[in-house]
Amino acid sequence: MVTTHNLGFPRIGAQRELKFGLERYWKGESSRDELKALGAQLRARHWNDQRELDLAPVGDFAFYDQVLDMSFALGNLPARVQGFHGDKLDNYFRVARGRSAQGAEEHAACCGGVAAGEMTKWFDTNYHYIVPEFTAETAFNLDTSGFLEQLREARAQGVKAKPVIIGPITYLWLGKAKDGPGKLADKLALLPRLMPVYRALLDYFKVMDVEWVQIDEPVLVTELDPAWRAAFVTAYQGFEERGVKLLLATYFGQLKENLELACSLPVDGLHIDAINAREEVALAAQKLPAHSVLSVGAINGRNIWKTDLNATLDWLEPLAQQLGDRLWLAPSCSLLHVPVDLASEARLDAEIRSWLAFALQKLDELKVLATALNAGRDRVTHELAANAAAIAARRNSPRVNNPAVKAALARIDANLGNRQHAYAERATKQAALLKLPAYPTTTIGSFPQTAEIRHARSQFRSGALDQSGYQDAMRKEIERSVREQEALGLDVLVHGEAERNDMVEYFGEQLDGYAFSQFGWVQSYGSRCVKPPILFGDISRPKAMTVEWISYAQSLTNKPMKGMLTGPVTILNWSFVRDDQPRSVSCYQLALAIREEVLDLEKAGVRVVQIDEAALREGLPLRRAQWGEYLRWAVESFRLTANGVRDETQIHTHMCYSEFNDIIASIADMDADVITIETSRSDMELLDAFDDFNYPNEIGPGVYDIHSPNIPTQQHIVQLMRKAAERIPAQRLWVNPDCGLKTRQWSEVLPALTNMVAAAKTLRSQAR
Ligand code: GLN
Ligand code: ZN
Repeated sequence: MVTTHNLGFPRIGAQRELKFGLERYWKGESSRDELKALGAQLRARHWNDQRELDLAPVGDFAFYDQVLDMSFALGNLPARVQGFHGDKLDNYFRVARGRSAQGAEEHAACCGGVAAGEMTKWFDTNYHYIVPEFTAETAFNLDTSGFLEQLREARAQGVKAKPVIIGPITYLWLGKAKDGPGKLADKLALLPRLMPVYRALLDYFKVMDVEWVQIDEPVLVTELDPAWRAAFVTAYQGFEERGVKLLLATYFGQLKENLELACSLPVDGLHIDAINAREEVALAAQKLPAHSVLSVGAINGRNIWKTDLNATLDWLEPLAQQLGDRLWLAPSCSLLHVPVDLASEARLDAEIRSWLAFALQKLDELKVLATALNAGRDRVTHELAANAAAIAARRNSPRVNNPAVKAALARIDANLGNRQHAYAERATKQAALLKLPAYPTTTIGSFPQTAEIRHARSQFRSGALDQSGYQDAMRKEIERSVREQEALGLDVLVHGEAERNDMVEYFGEQLDGYAFSQFGWVQSYGSRCVKPPILFGDISRPKAMTVEWISYAQSLTNKPMKGMLTGPVTILNWSFVRDDQPRSVSCYQLALAIREEVLDLEKAGVRVVQIDEAALREGLPLRRAQWGEYLRWAVESFRLTANGVRDETQIHTHMCYSEFNDIIASIADMDADVITIETSRSDMELLDAFDDFNYPNEIGPGVYDIHSPNIPTQQHIVQLMRKAAERIPAQRLWVNPDCGLKTRQWSEVLPALTNMVAAAKTLRSQAR
């Protein structure tokens, strides 16, 4: 018999109940007890949803983040919150977001606000975790209260509980040694201190009568230094004979050179992500010791497509023969990364809906697979036939396949991605046309999304405002931002993006090949969720998407108006993407569609076009060895999009909140005339990468931290730009904020940009 289990369940709730509960609590609108009760209620519901599994995860719930929960279980709290008294949950929120609930803070010992923990992406997902902090003094201290509560609840509900914890090596790997005196030189030096706490935790599970513990070590799918590989051996040898069984869980990629290591650790089972590492399943079956369980992640926990159950059974059946009871079955990774329930998507096109599976539907698929393996396919004939029909319908649907798009893709040749001439020659022509001063000023695209804008949008959606009423409202906003920019004296203007709710969704809605869910929310961090659009078919652009708005904005001013677009790589990386062709192919399709938009803008007389690639870096594969391949098609896609224009048309791109050092050559390869980047927080140090590389084109390093309500002074901006000029020749520098201004108020933006323009004037007057 195969055993079914799940690595984790989305905790936000099908209707984002946790989000709203958290926000009520933080605002002081509900009590801590109400929030805790909501947590218990969601856990109970989610275990009920998983009741057909042989083992259900316990401890995968978190009020903010599972890594932060682990830090609390290990007693690793940053020093800055250690003085606080009161409820542990409040301290937890202090680390998560710098403060707890309104009411809770008033009674806290201190001022109420502390620095929030740093947040970063969980491997290659769009989920962000709170980075564990380490110093040379870090000590650990087991706190089992969280597990105790959840185990009790699960038991009371009759759940066959499998606690889920983050393994010690991944925990250390995810953390960061804090700067300052007593900085820890090597995180692995903490392992001897960490091990007794993990051992005590496992002992605790034994006392609680737990049979299996899932211990997550996703770092095993990355390239590990010898020291980290050795640490695995030390750590897991230290867990021998604890009296509970350990399922070592890996996911998000292939184990490759770590497969041997993973199979040799003294644990009782190994989970492999068979979506990403199908070919390693058979290898692991061979290499694992005879007592060991092999858990196969056969259903994609990261995507929203139905599994091809028949094809999956074709390769699972022989494996089940070979392994017997030692075969376990699960989704490839925690279902945290998919929405909860497709059944709520009443408005989604029925045909497209029939191709999809959200978390609950994935659990149903798991059950069908297990039944077929345990009792034969004829026990699930109906389910398998329905699945086969859906898979075939999707494969053959004319809505997925557009021969014209495929033909256009086949016609791509490298020349399409080349500008007419090299940057230097283009720069001369652009300068003659645009007549910009030294240190030209611009902004990144969006201006404040005011209450009026949101009101007009919701009125339009509900039907209270018609198309032309909505258009008028947006034009008014565009006019306002153009007037403000002229008054400020900015050099290259933007229309302000009033008509866009989201930089990806806006384009997705206008492209063929995209669908949108209503409740397809996925947790991004804390109470924040995103609803990625669904790229299901060949992508084409039925008509121009932005030309009218930009032309209108340009008609209001003599200054150059930037055409604003989102680039193909960013659209791809922030969508659920079809799994029936390589991501690169979908990206090239997006590139051709956006390219048409670029050319239409140029035809309409737009002289500067900005193509944002905010998510280019985050698409990098987990393994460095695969970076080259990704960067090749990502850069090629950008070049296809951008570089069909005449020399005179100036192409900008924008990237933010990334480490650029590793990919600077690829950024240069994109050959944008100007790149604007976020740098103000790093004191221009980010520019070192561009300096060292001798970045050849123009750069606008951000001088205004748009995430802060603080207004940068003129003097501060001048100083930052002087630092920039030490690294990049002044004639290739632009002056601009870090990123778009849509989350700010006009009352903040106006003084900040006034100072920015004044700073540019100072710099010009001092330039020789
Ligand atoms: N043009 C977008 C804006 O200004 C860019 C946003 C981003 O980089 N994330 O909002
Ligand atoms: Zn940005």
